[in-house]
Amino acid sequence: MARYTGAVCRLCRREGMKLFLKGDRCYTDKCAVNKRNYAPGQHGQNRKKLSNYGTQLREKQKVKRIYGVLETQFRNLYEKAEKMQGITGENLLSLLERRLDNVVYRMGLASSRKEARQLVTHGHFTLNGKKVDIPSLIVNLGDVITVKDRSKSSTKFKGLAEDTSKTSPRWIEMNLENMTGKIVALPTREDIDLHIEEHQIVELYSK
Ligand code: SF4
Repeated sequence: MARYTGAVCRLCRREGMKLFLKGDRCYTDKCAVNKRNYAPGQHGQNRKKLSNYGTQLREKQKVKRIYGVLETQFRNLYEKAEKMQGITGENLLSLLERRLDNVVYRMGLASSRKEARQLVTHGHFTLNGKKVDIPSLIVNLGDVITVKDRSKSSTKFKGLAEDTSKTSPRWIEMNLENMTGKIVALPTREDIDLHIEEHQIVELYSK
């Protein structure tokens, strides 16, 4: 299946909440959810009450869109989450958080996950000292993600190194000066600041 290339704000409006797909714009009054909080299209303002199945499906779509993951990758992560100890839905979210593109976003080095994915595929990072360009890679405890020396001197990263307003979650120890992030804990459900009902996804896939 091809990646969605249409107007991303429509996706937020479809889900009825901000999915933060457009970087800085998402935090301004220009956000389409702030301006038109109803589904896109001719019948968007007459949103019908969803069936159980519809609710579960929407929740899955929402999470896929937030993290920019396609169905096959998402299903594979779900199967991995099922085999892990603990609660499947929470495991799934933790695995999504541990994707390298999301980690770069959480490190404050990109304004959206999409931008983070691009930066990774363009080879701006190393993982434990080795070049890495796979956004879907799952990081582990103790891993160190660093902006490559050559990239550090670019305008983008130079500007970020001087921006002290950036914060990172407790599970990433960030050294902005060196452009390095270390995974000091694995993300848990409490670390994920998104309104997600992951049990709906588990129910959907359990049918
Ligand atoms: Fe979604 Fe951001 Fe567009 Fe708002 S600005 S609708 S949060 S992508």
